[in-house]
Amino acid sequence: MKKKKAALLFSGGQDSTTALGWCLNKFDDIHLLSFDYGQRHNIELKSAKRIVKEIEKNFDLDTTKISKSLIIKIRNLANITKSSLTSNLKIDTSKKIPNTFVPGRNLLFYNLASSYAYTNNIENIVSGVCQTDFSGYPDCRDVTIKTLNKAINLGMEKKFLFHTPLMFLSKAETWKLSYTIGGEKFVNIIKKYTHTCYKGERKKLFSWGYGCNKCPACSIRKKGWDEYNLKKNDIQC
Ligand SMILES: [Zn+2]
Repeated sequence: MKKKKAALLFSGGQDSTTALGWCLNKFDDIHLLSFDYGQRHNIELKSAKRIVKEIEKNFDLDTTKISKSLIIKIRNLANITKSSLTSNLKIDTSKKIPNTFVPGRNLLFYNLASSYAYTNNIENIVSGVCQTDFSGYPDCRDVTIKTLNKAINLGMEKKFLFHTPLMFLSKAETWKLSYTIGGEKFVNIIKKYTHTCYKGERKKLFSWGYGCNKCPACSIRKKGWDEYNLKKNDIQC
Protein backbone atom coordinates (compact mmCIF):
# COMPACT_ATOMS: atom_id res chain seq x y z
CA MET A 1 0.00 0.00 0.00
CA LYS A 2 1.19 3.51 -0.77
CA LYS A 3 2.55 5.34 2.27
CA LYS A 4 0.64 8.39 3.39
CA LYS A 5 3.22 11.15 3.61
CA ALA A 6 3.00 14.44 5.45
CA ALA A 7 5.21 17.47 6.08
CA LEU A 8 4.60 19.15 9.44
CA LEU A 9 5.51 22.76 10.21
CA PHE A 10 7.09 22.03 13.56
CA SER A 11 8.21 24.83 15.86
CA GLY A 12 8.51 22.84 19.08
CA GLY A 13 5.63 24.84 20.56
CA GLN A 14 2.45 23.53 22.13
CA ASP A 15 0.29 23.71 19.01
CA SER A 16 2.69 22.13 16.54
CA THR A 17 3.58 19.40 19.06
CA THR A 18 -0.12 18.56 19.42
CA ALA A 19 -0.30 18.54 15.61
CA LEU A 20 2.68 16.12 15.62
CA GLY A 21 0.69 13.71 17.80
CA TRP A 22 -2.24 14.08 15.39
CA CYS A 23 0.07 13.29 12.43
CA LEU A 24 1.55 10.21 14.14
CA ASN A 25 -1.98 8.78 14.32
CA LYS A 26 -2.83 9.64 10.74
CA PHE A 27 0.20 9.35 8.45
CA ASP A 28 2.91 6.75 7.75
CA ASP A 29 5.83 8.96 6.80
CA ILE A 30 6.29 12.32 8.49
CA HIS A 31 8.83 15.03 7.69
CA LEU A 32 9.34 17.69 10.37
CA LEU A 33 10.17 21.15 9.08
CA SER A 34 11.34 23.76 11.58
CA PHE A 35 12.20 27.32 10.60
CA ASP A 36 15.03 29.48 11.84
CA TYR A 37 13.95 33.00 10.85
CA GLY A 38 16.03 34.95 13.33
CA GLN A 39 13.54 34.65 16.16
CA ARG A 40 14.63 36.38 19.35
CA HIS A 41 14.45 33.19 21.36
CA ASN A 42 15.20 29.98 19.55
CA ILE A 43 14.47 27.87 22.61
CA GLU A 44 11.60 26.27 20.66
CA LEU A 45 14.01 25.00 18.03
CA LYS A 46 16.16 23.47 20.73
CA SER A 47 13.08 21.81 22.22
CA ALA A 48 11.97 20.23 18.95
CA LYS A 49 14.52 17.37 19.08
CA ARG A 50 13.94 16.80 22.78
CA ILE A 51 10.18 16.51 22.25
CA VAL A 52 10.55 13.73 19.68
CA LYS A 53 12.92 11.86 22.07
CA GLU A 54 10.46 12.21 24.94
CA ILE A 55 7.57 10.91 22.82
CA GLU A 56 9.74 7.97 21.78
CA LYS A 57 10.64 7.18 25.39
CA ASN A 58 7.32 7.75 27.02
CA PHE A 59 4.55 6.11 25.10
CA ASP A 60 3.55 4.10 22.14
CA LEU A 61 3.05 6.63 19.39
CA ASP A 62 5.33 5.36 16.64
CA THR A 63 8.07 7.94 16.15
CA THR A 64 9.81 5.72 13.58
CA LYS A 65 7.28 7.28 11.21
CA ILE A 66 9.33 10.48 11.42
CA SER A 67 11.75 9.95 8.57
CA LYS A 68 13.21 13.47 8.31
CA SER A 69 13.68 16.38 10.63
CA LEU A 70 15.20 19.55 9.28
CA ILE A 71 15.68 23.21 10.10
CA ILE A 72 15.12 25.57 7.20
CA LYS A 73 16.98 28.87 7.53
CA ILE A 74 15.33 32.09 6.43
CA ARG A 75 18.09 34.66 6.61
CA ASN A 76 16.51 38.01 5.84
CA LEU A 77 13.02 37.99 7.29
CA ALA A 78 14.14 39.52 10.59
CA ASN A 79 16.08 42.26 8.73
CA ILE A 80 13.24 43.44 6.54
CA THR A 81 10.45 43.33 9.14
CA LYS A 82 9.87 44.94 12.51
CA SER A 83 8.47 42.64 15.16
CA SER A 84 9.06 42.10 18.85
CA LEU A 85 9.62 38.41 18.09
CA THR A 86 12.67 39.16 15.97
CA SER A 87 14.12 42.22 17.72
CA ASN A 88 14.44 43.86 21.12
CA LEU A 89 11.23 45.84 20.63
CA LYS A 90 9.05 45.79 23.71
CA ILE A 91 6.04 43.47 23.32
CA ASP A 92 2.95 45.57 22.61
CA THR A 93 -0.45 43.90 22.40
CA SER A 94 -2.55 47.07 22.63
CA LYS A 95 -3.24 47.19 18.86
CA LYS A 96 -5.61 44.94 16.91
CA ILE A 97 -2.60 43.11 15.54
CA PRO A 98 0.11 42.88 18.24
CA ASN A 99 3.72 43.71 17.40
CA THR A 100 4.65 40.04 17.95
CA PHE A 101 3.23 39.50 14.47
CA VAL A 102 5.95 38.80 11.89
CA PRO A 103 4.33 39.84 8.63
CA GLY A 104 4.25 37.07 6.06
CA ARG A 105 5.96 34.53 8.30
CA ASN A 106 3.43 31.73 8.04
CA LEU A 107 2.85 32.45 4.35
CA LEU A 108 6.56 32.02 3.80
CA PHE A 109 6.67 28.82 5.89
CA TYR A 110 3.87 27.34 3.81
CA ASN A 111 5.57 28.30 0.56
CA LEU A 112 8.85 26.72 1.61
CA ALA A 113 7.09 23.63 3.02
CA SER A 114 5.27 23.27 -0.30
CA SER A 115 8.53 23.54 -2.26
CA TYR A 116 9.93 20.79 -0.03
CA ALA A 117 6.77 18.69 -0.37
CA TYR A 118 6.83 19.09 -4.15
CA THR A 119 10.38 17.79 -4.33
CA ASN A 120 9.74 14.90 -1.93
CA ASN A 121 6.36 13.76 -3.31
CA ILE A 122 4.49 14.70 -0.17
CA GLU A 123 0.79 15.45 -0.58
CA ASN A 124 -0.17 16.52 2.94
CA ILE A 125 1.05 19.66 4.71
CA VAL A 126 0.10 20.04 8.35
CA SER A 127 0.44 22.91 10.80
CA GLY A 128 -0.79 23.83 14.26
CA VAL A 129 -2.14 27.25 13.27
CA CYS A 130 -5.29 28.26 15.07
CA GLN A 131 -7.57 31.25 14.60
CA THR A 132 -9.69 30.76 17.68
CA ASP A 133 -8.00 32.21 20.70
CA PHE A 134 -4.58 33.16 19.47
CA SER A 135 -3.39 36.73 19.08
CA GLY A 136 -5.42 37.64 16.03
CA TYR A 137 -2.66 36.96 13.53
CA PRO A 138 -4.21 37.20 10.05
CA ASP A 139 -1.92 34.50 8.65
CA CYS A 140 -3.35 31.96 11.13
CA ARG A 141 -6.91 32.35 9.89
CA ASP A 142 -8.77 29.59 8.12
CA VAL A 143 -9.58 31.75 5.10
CA THR A 144 -5.89 32.65 4.67
CA ILE A 145 -4.72 29.04 4.79
CA LYS A 146 -7.47 27.78 2.47
CA THR A 147 -6.81 30.55 -0.05
CA LEU A 148 -3.06 29.96 0.16
CA ASN A 149 -3.65 26.25 -0.41
CA LYS A 150 -5.48 27.10 -3.63
CA ALA A 151 -2.83 29.58 -4.78
CA ILE A 152 0.04 27.18 -4.11
CA ASN A 153 -1.75 24.30 -5.82
CA LEU A 154 -2.24 26.52 -8.86
CA GLY A 155 1.32 27.85 -8.74
CA MET A 156 2.93 24.42 -8.40
CA GLU A 157 0.31 22.46 -10.33
CA LYS A 158 -0.17 20.07 -7.44
CA LYS A 159 -2.99 18.86 -5.24
CA PHE A 160 -1.55 19.52 -1.80
CA LEU A 161 -3.90 19.12 1.12
CA PHE A 162 -3.27 21.64 3.90
CA HIS A 163 -4.43 20.25 7.26
CA THR A 164 -5.01 22.51 10.27
CA PRO A 165 -6.41 20.22 12.99
CA LEU A 166 -6.30 22.96 15.64
CA MET A 167 -7.87 25.74 13.56
CA PHE A 168 -11.13 26.07 15.50
CA LEU A 169 -10.02 24.75 18.88
CA SER A 170 -9.71 26.92 21.97
CA LYS A 171 -6.53 26.45 23.99
CA ALA A 172 -8.51 24.30 26.47
CA GLU A 173 -9.64 22.10 23.58
CA THR A 174 -6.05 21.84 22.35
CA TRP A 175 -5.00 20.47 25.77
CA LYS A 176 -7.91 18.04 25.57
CA LEU A 177 -6.89 16.96 22.05
CA SER A 178 -3.38 16.17 23.30
CA TYR A 179 -4.95 14.09 26.08
CA THR A 180 -7.12 12.24 23.53
CA ILE A 181 -4.03 11.52 21.42
CA GLY A 182 -1.70 10.27 24.15
CA GLY A 183 -3.25 10.59 27.61
CA GLU A 184 -1.51 12.17 30.60
CA LYS A 185 1.93 11.20 29.28
CA PHE A 186 1.54 13.27 26.13
CA VAL A 187 0.01 16.16 28.10
CA ASN A 188 3.04 16.06 30.42
CA ILE A 189 5.50 16.09 27.52
CA ILE A 190 3.72 19.13 26.09
CA LYS A 191 3.72 20.77 29.47
CA LYS A 192 7.41 20.22 30.18
CA TYR A 193 9.07 20.41 26.79
CA THR A 194 7.11 22.78 24.55
CA HIS A 195 7.54 26.54 24.55
CA THR A 196 5.05 29.28 24.08
CA CYS A 197 6.56 32.12 26.11
CA TYR A 198 7.53 35.18 24.04
CA LYS A 199 10.48 35.74 26.36
CA GLY A 200 11.75 32.15 26.11
CA GLU A 201 11.84 31.79 29.90
CA ARG A 202 12.53 28.38 31.35
CA LYS A 203 13.31 29.02 34.98
CA LYS A 204 10.14 27.93 36.71
CA LEU A 205 7.71 25.11 35.96
CA PHE A 206 4.11 26.21 36.46
CA SER A 207 1.10 23.87 36.36
CA TRP A 208 0.79 24.67 32.61
CA GLY A 209 4.51 24.50 31.77
CA TYR A 210 7.56 26.79 31.71
CA GLY A 211 7.34 30.49 31.00
CA CYS A 212 7.52 34.00 32.39
CA ASN A 213 3.86 33.84 33.51
CA LYS A 214 3.43 37.44 32.33
CA CYS A 215 3.61 37.74 28.55
CA PRO A 216 0.44 37.37 26.41
CA ALA A 217 1.51 33.91 25.17
CA CYS A 218 1.97 32.63 28.75
CA SER A 219 -1.40 34.15 29.74
CA ILE A 220 -3.22 32.40 26.89
CA ARG A 221 -1.53 29.09 27.70
CA LYS A 222 -2.34 29.39 31.41
CA LYS A 223 -5.96 30.39 30.74
CA GLY A 224 -6.40 27.39 28.43
CA TRP A 225 -4.84 25.04 30.97
CA ASP A 226 -7.13 26.31 33.77
CA GLU A 227 -10.22 25.97 31.57
CA TYR A 228 -9.17 22.49 30.49
CA ASN A 229 -8.80 21.38 34.09
CA LEU A 230 -12.13 22.85 35.10
CA LYS A 231 -14.11 21.33 32.25
CA LYS A 232 -11.98 18.32 31.26
CA ASN A 233 -14.85 15.86 31.08
CA ASP A 234 -17.17 18.12 29.11
CA ILE A 235 -14.76 19.16 26.36
CA GLN A 236 -15.33 17.36 23.08
CA CYS A 237 -12.76 17.51 20.29
ZN1 LIG B 1 5.96 34.38 28.83
